[in-house]
Amino acid sequence: MPELPEVEHAVRRLRRALRGRRIVAVRALHRAQARTLTPAVARRIAGHAITGVTRRGKHQLVHLDDGATLLVHFRLDGDWELGRAGTAMPRHARVVFDLDGGRRAVLTDPRALCTVTYHRPGAPPDLALGPEAEDRAVTAAWLHGQLRTRRGPIKPVLLDQRLLAGLGNIYAQEACWRAGIHPAAAASSLSRPRVTRLLAGIRAALADGHTNAGRYREGERVVPFKVYDREGEPCRRCGAPLRRMVQAGRGTWYCGACQTR
Ligand SMILES: [Zn+2]
Repeated sequence: MPELPEVEHAVRRLRRALRGRRIVAVRALHRAQARTLTPAVARRIAGHAITGVTRRGKHQLVHLDDGATLLVHFRLDGDWELGRAGTAMPRHARVVFDLDGGRRAVLTDPRALCTVTYHRPGAPPDLALGPEAEDRAVTAAWLHGQLRTRRGPIKPVLLDQRLLAGLGNIYAQEACWRAGIHPAAAASSLSRPRVTRLLAGIRAALADGHTNAGRYREGERVVPFKVYDREGEPCRRCGAPLRRMVQAGRGTWYCGACQTR
């Protein structure tokens, strides 16, 4: 599943390719995306220039010159193929943006679960997201106050997008390890100093991901994770073998020796 650094990398590529260009036509090649990109919607989009591409959490927002927004989400998989029109269509092409200047942006997704929705001028998407973890306005004091009101173990709580936008399963557990916090520790029980370490851990884990352009793919470990997918391997801090458990249906890797409740 694309995590935040991977989406951020995709947004940067898309921004470079799209900014200032005009959409000549948009086409949904799969019925899953054709449900939202209807012919009527495609007509509304056609002819408009792209003024910017931004990210909120794991959502990609393409802003048009009439104030409309295209909201793109990779869901479980997805990528952009950016290049010239007229070349062979890539495998798993789901949505095609034909641009002026003979350019093309193709949304590819083997599972066809990616979504593209159109939001009219003046009616931006309501994403119901918390602030970005990397936002300077997010402080340890704020996070501590938020966590005190949350029920349940810390790692699943960190996945709640209404708390912090964009933090996914991998980076939540990486942050817990960096902070020395057991992923099953009660979120509301964490002391202010521990929350300070947790926030630093979140930011350091994401920064590592950004450095590696978020190039993580299933079965292919590009980003040097500290705990994720390393069951039985030695902890990089204390050497104890790492363990795996399941929390809220998602795998969590951790060190039972140096991550404490
Ligand atoms: Zn350890």
